Amino acid sequence: MRRPVLWGGSPHYTLSSTAPAGAATLVVVSSSPRATQVNVPVSARLFERAAAIIPGGVNSPVRAFNSVGGTPRFIASARGYTLTDADGNDYVDLVCSWGPMILGHAHPAVVDAVQRAATGGLSFGAPTEAEIELAEAIAARVDPVQRVRLVNSGTEATMSAVRLARGFTGRSKIVKFAGCYHGHVDALLADAGSGVATLGLPTSPGVTGAQASDTLVLPYNDLEAVATAFAEYPGQIAAVITEAAAGNMGAVPPLPGFNAGLRELTSEHGALLIMDEVMTGFRVSAAGWYGRDPVAGDLYTFGKVMSGGLPAAAFGGRAEVMDHLAPIGPVYQAGTLSGNPVAVAAGLATLRAADADVYAALDRNAERLGSLITEALTTAGVPHTVQFAGNMVSVFFAEGPVTDYATAKATATWRFPAFFHALLERGVYAPPSPFEAWFVSAALDEDAFDRIAAALPAAAAAAAAATPEGSRA
Ligand SMILES: *Cc1c(COP(=O)(O)O)cnc(C)c1O
Repeated sequence: MRRPVLWGGSPHYTLSSTAPAGAATLVVVSSSPRATQVNVPVSARLFERAAAIIPGGVNSPVRAFNSVGGTPRFIASARGYTLTDADGNDYVDLVCSWGPMILGHAHPAVVDAVQRAATGGLSFGAPTEAEIELAEAIAARVDPVQRVRLVNSGTEATMSAVRLARGFTGRSKIVKFAGCYHGHVDALLADAGSGVATLGLPTSPGVTGAQASDTLVLPYNDLEAVATAFAEYPGQIAAVITEAAAGNMGAVPPLPGFNAGLRELTSEHGALLIMDEVMTGFRVSAAGWYGRDPVAGDLYTFGKVMSGGLPAAAFGGRAEVMDHLAPIGPVYQAGTLSGNPVAVAAGLATLRAADADVYAALDRNAERLGSLITEALTTAGVPHTVQFAGNMVSVFFAEGPVTDYATAKATATWRFPAFFHALLERGVYAPPSPFEAWFVSAALDEDAFDRIAAALPAAAAAAAAATPEGSRA
């Protein structure tokens, strides 16, 4: 049998329960018999055709459904909370393009802004007024951000922030946390060595030992490990990078005082604190996670919501640090399409439409989704915990709380494929991996929640009936 593998460090990897110890990078494809293809002949055909020309048939690994089995749905269109696949099936979207679509799909104000921008020219390679407006909008919402540079993806934002932190401090080492994802930056595709503060090991071929060994990978929510790392590598750590609230091992919020502790330790040791808000930024509040837990980072990374579904991202922070960037400083960073007028228009329109009502709706919808999941799983007798990081939601199949990657991996992830497919077959599109957060939009209405509520009992029953063996190929 063909057993494609994905490499860890993707936001979207799943550890196989059959993987040997230490093989923290393998994903074993399960071809679950539950994943019937009866209603998706067009998607199935498209996937076959895609796989012949695009590696794995997808342009980002999680889309391939490797963690849950079955064939990905090819999307033909989307509007509001509804995704429509190539076979004409409708789904209530609880992925929202992995976060960006807080307003729902094809929001009229965003579509209009994009159309108008496109009519005015697609790219100039010269500055525009709208770029200033987007940078100002970001800085106005997140207090510690005094300067902003626009880039094209979250990966580019974190890569640039790490380079800048190294250039600013003159130090090499970076601390990151296991289970946090910061894009597919070489230096951040590292896994923990065996000790608490040992140098990282590459989690993907193509990442050199040297690139990984400047990265220290520590357990999330463990301040003692961070203190130990600073003690073991005095004067060598340029920055600690953290998801402001972790969303890439499922929703795992920082414990009270964790981010504040990182702030203290980095300041004490002359290192920078990089708050990765690519996922949380402008989603969990108008000011992102900073709006809920106001610990100031030196640098911030943004993406997803801030570009409204088009490819743009940003990094920003203290002027003193940011002014080390070219052309006024020595740290090089550039981009042909950076600040692209169409992407900037989508981002600005999204931020402008995201008012207090939208954030209240996101919070309310997340609570409601979480309650429905809890109710269904409790009724079905499935041990679980529904966890929130702001309005990002996760269901873990174990009694909680889940506080780090080790506890996330120790949950009964083998229940997830059955749960996922039962929802999908009933028109509810959840993230196709047990280690992903679920994303609500403000567009979810009574009808959407009726459909979710109608689908959940069968999904909970499927999760209850699942066995560890059943989820393996
Ligand atoms: C999605 C994500 C990234 C990477 O962004 P891309 O646009 O996919 O490159 C980085 N950090 C976090 C926290 C993310 O969730």
